[in-house]
Amino acid sequence: MGKIPENILNEIQDRCDIVEVISNYISLKPSGRNFKACCPFHHEKTPSFVVSPDKQIYHCFGCNSGGNVFNFIKEYEKMDFIDAVKMLAEKTGVKLPEYKSHDDQDSSVVSTLYSINDIAVNYYSNFLEKAGSSSDVKRYIVKRGLDAVVLKKFRVGYADSSWKALIDYLSGRGVKQDMILKAGLVTKGKDGAYYDLFRNRIIFPIFDARDKVVGFGARVMDEAMPKYINSPETAIYKKGLHLYGLNFAKANIKEKNFAIITEGYLDVMTCHQYGVANSIASLGTALTTEQIRLLKRYTHNVVMLYDADQAGEMASLRGLDLFLEEGMNVKIATLEKGHDPDSFLRKFGREKFDTAINKSKSLFTYKLDILKNKFDKRDPESKAEIIKEMLSTIYKVKNAIVKAEYIRLLSYELSVKEDAVWEELKKIKDKRPSDFNRSKQDVKRPIEISPAEKILTRLMLEDINVVKIVKDELKPSDFRNHDIRNIAEALFLIDTDGGLIDVGRLINSMENKVPQNVVSFIVNEEVDIKDKEKNVCDCIMSIKKENRSRLLKDIQSRLDIAQKSGYEEEEKRLLEEFNQIIKKGV
Ligand SMILES: [Zn+2]
Repeated sequence: MGKIPENILNEIQDRCDIVEVISNYISLKPSGRNFKACCPFHHEKTPSFVVSPDKQIYHCFGCNSGGNVFNFIKEYEKMDFIDAVKMLAEKTGVKLPEYKSHDDQDSSVVSTLYSINDIAVNYYSNFLEKAGSSSDVKRYIVKRGLDAVVLKKFRVGYADSSWKALIDYLSGRGVKQDMILKAGLVTKGKDGAYYDLFRNRIIFPIFDARDKVVGFGARVMDEAMPKYINSPETAIYKKGLHLYGLNFAKANIKEKNFAIITEGYLDVMTCHQYGVANSIASLGTALTTEQIRLLKRYTHNVVMLYDADQAGEMASLRGLDLFLEEGMNVKIATLEKGHDPDSFLRKFGREKFDTAINKSKSLFTYKLDILKNKFDKRDPESKAEIIKEMLSTIYKVKNAIVKAEYIRLLSYELSVKEDAVWEELKKIKDKRPSDFNRSKQDVKRPIEISPAEKILTRLMLEDINVVKIVKDELKPSDFRNHDIRNIAEALFLIDTDGGLIDVGRLINSMENKVPQNVVSFIVNEEVDIKDKEKNVCDCIMSIKKENRSRLLKDIQSRLDIAQKSGYEEEEKRLLEEFNQIIKKGV
């Protein structure tokens, strides 16, 4: 759990309500004292995801994910625990102390990489400024029509054809060679020497959403191949996690409540130059779930801007289903043939561009149009093909009303009975290989705890007085389940007179010893325990009995071996042990 002090975690928890935090991501419905929803971590139709405002924890009884508010953010945003804490600290205005992540070395590497990137950005952009107006890079920039303001804003730079210029520059500033390698700025040659990775290229720094440079993209200025090279993955740069330009666009995206997603660096820069300040790029062809979730913090509406060449590609359309899975609205805008956003804006200007954006079609309409062009919709087999392809998208629409409307439209467009389309949809539901695999992967190990241990722990978690009783009767090692043992250990250490135990906090205090979902599982399970006192006694007794009979069985089997092997002394000792346990009773 890193080294964030428990009191800080508690302070953050005190200032945010888990129901409110989770409501920002999914819609929760009240259910008794708790709230319920369909689980965001696995695919389901009936809600088994429970949030308890009293205990400030959540649990899904379908896939067994659960924990406190930090665990939710961590899982949902696919962040490190520490980043989840940071995010909530920011929201709640709690100041985090300077801390070192996993270990001191890690965090110092990370901060060194950021500062190396900063130095490199300055180096490259100085180089660009100094380049003569007849240089390749300046001519390229003029050709692409990029103005000085946008170049400066995106901190564009230039690497000349030297093999060692950046290394020498960084070394001269005291940066160690192995750190330059870790920053992904150099490659190791066959001779073992380091060389600059980017040569003779225009350099686009890649920022994270907080304005920090995490990596670089570099493009040639002629037709040489490869056209682009990017930083390799480093401790601070992972492919598919960032959206290019989001740091500059996020405020405008929030304001306009939609984002325009383009293909590449130059599209984004040209868009911003023309005042289209809500444009970003995916940095790669297919968007990832992580990127979509990142964007979802600012808007739920996306316009994909395709050029005419890629517009008809079914494969790139299928990728857009991910937006629907994340509950986002996605529309598609196309530009005239032969144009990308960059060339289009420069030729036709902003107004025509806005018109193209305003004319964007929903994924449903767009896809159906393509399919209708591709297949003859009078032919029954083709019809079935269109419906199958459309249903794979409709299936992913989260909103039931929108879904029903699409089904209605689809049956109307193809003159098919609506019932038949619904029936086909049902078939998809029954066998979705991709979804099936995913949810299977997401489902956590089943939690196997004997009823007595489960009920007793539940009762302990509810009342410190029960803890006191159990503590007198059982040792942590008396519990069979390893996690329960650790929970008992933590509970036995609690030193308060108050009745209620703050489960959300307890999860913090147990560090990584107990999976958070085990605690939330025990606490959130809806069982009505009537006679508490009797239940406590019964459970303690049952655990003792179980342990006793297990112990006796164990001795018995060792006794058998001793007898068969003729170890008389051992036999005698075991017999004595056996009799003593019998005599002692439970
Ligand atoms: Zn679940």
